[in-house]
Amino acid sequence: MNTRRDFLQLLAASAITLPLAPLSGLANEVKIIEENYDGPVLRVAIMGLGGYGTRVADAMRDCKKAKLVGVISGTPSKITNWQSKYGIPEKNCYNYESFDAIKNNPDIDAVYITTPNGLHHDQAIRVAKAGKHVICEKPMALNAKEGQEMVDACKKAGVKLLVGYRMHFEPKTLEIIRMRKAGEFGKIMFFQGLCGFNIGDPKQWRLNKQLAGGGSLMDIGIYAINGSRYMVGEEPVWVTAQETKTQPERFAEGVDETIQFQFGFPGGAVASCLSTYAMNNLDRFFLNGEKGFAELQPSTGYGPIKGRTNKGELTHPHVTHQTVQMEEFSDIILNGKVPVVPVDGEEGVKDLKIIDAIYLAAKTGKKVALKLG
Ligand code: NAD
Repeated sequence: MNTRRDFLQLLAASAITLPLAPLSGLANEVKIIEENYDGPVLRVAIMGLGGYGTRVADAMRDCKKAKLVGVISGTPSKITNWQSKYGIPEKNCYNYESFDAIKNNPDIDAVYITTPNGLHHDQAIRVAKAGKHVICEKPMALNAKEGQEMVDACKKAGVKLLVGYRMHFEPKTLEIIRMRKAGEFGKIMFFQGLCGFNIGDPKQWRLNKQLAGGGSLMDIGIYAINGSRYMVGEEPVWVTAQETKTQPERFAEGVDETIQFQFGFPGGAVASCLSTYAMNNLDRFFLNGEKGFAELQPSTGYGPIKGRTNKGELTHPHVTHQTVQMEEFSDIILNGKVPVVPVDGEEGVKDLKIIDAIYLAAKTGKKVALKLG
């Protein structure tokens, strides 16, 4: 955010409803929607036209630096609908068998994978082999080994790999990170992350071990894992975890209902987190340092995110997370911009190493050491 004019443009582009906030509190990193932008545009195809793919497509309507130009789907009727809804030409439509041919399509720069978790690994590697940049939803894969294979494949193909960590561009989140880096909370001692909701339909892929890779931890608990890292500003060196299952008929073997987990950080801070598919109203981050605290609730939903610190309420404007994320992803891919919090494949693999460790700790009851480097 450079000028008040940029700020007003952001307000206009994001349908922000808050009164004009004083500019002094705005983090420099907040993304500007540059109304008069005429630079390069990232041309994106979305793979998997479900709930989240649709949300991203709708949010991209407001993007200036990224444009939805193609689709990959196994359902012909969805392709037709999306073609008319988003103006997608026939030559940019593929299915899961044909999409390797995207290699010969000069009008697509990147593929955004929004399919179930268990499909990300193979699909991302095929996209990389087709020479296109990969944007992949979280969790990027089912485990760290798979994630690393995706990173290696993208490196080999010379394409970028980004993970859909939308909170990394959220203004209140960025402000807390700025304050923590500036020492405004003092030495960080504690983080709490509570993430959960009551999962519905028992037949959905999120409750299928093969497609989901686990249960709540893969889907929603990953926000507390990732959040603890960017809030504390260090990588955890140990993990402990405990799993509880109150409804075994709903949650099969390997599909976690509720997991509590704890991290230790090299500087002495500890984190205490809970991930669940059995409770609503759990969306809270709390960071405590020797001089101050920060609190976000809701902390990772689509917003508006609400937050306060020991210095008062955070009044940063609500932005549509997916619009800002795609503007930033375009800058990262096309212009080599370095984000405040990484969103690359290596960042995704770190979360997967922690997930592997949490499942191991819950299974063995032992403290698991971590080396994330
Ligand atoms: P969804 O079920 O709404 O959509 C999944 C899409 O994949 C559907 O269109 C479905 O037809 C398609 N698909 C292709 N092959 C499939 C198969 N073998 N089985 C089932 N579906 C198949 O799911 P969603 O909520 O859109 O989630 C998709 C991905 O996006 C997941 O990785 C999820 O974790 C992620 N996600 C991220 C966020 C976020 O805020 N970043 C939010 C929601 C979902």
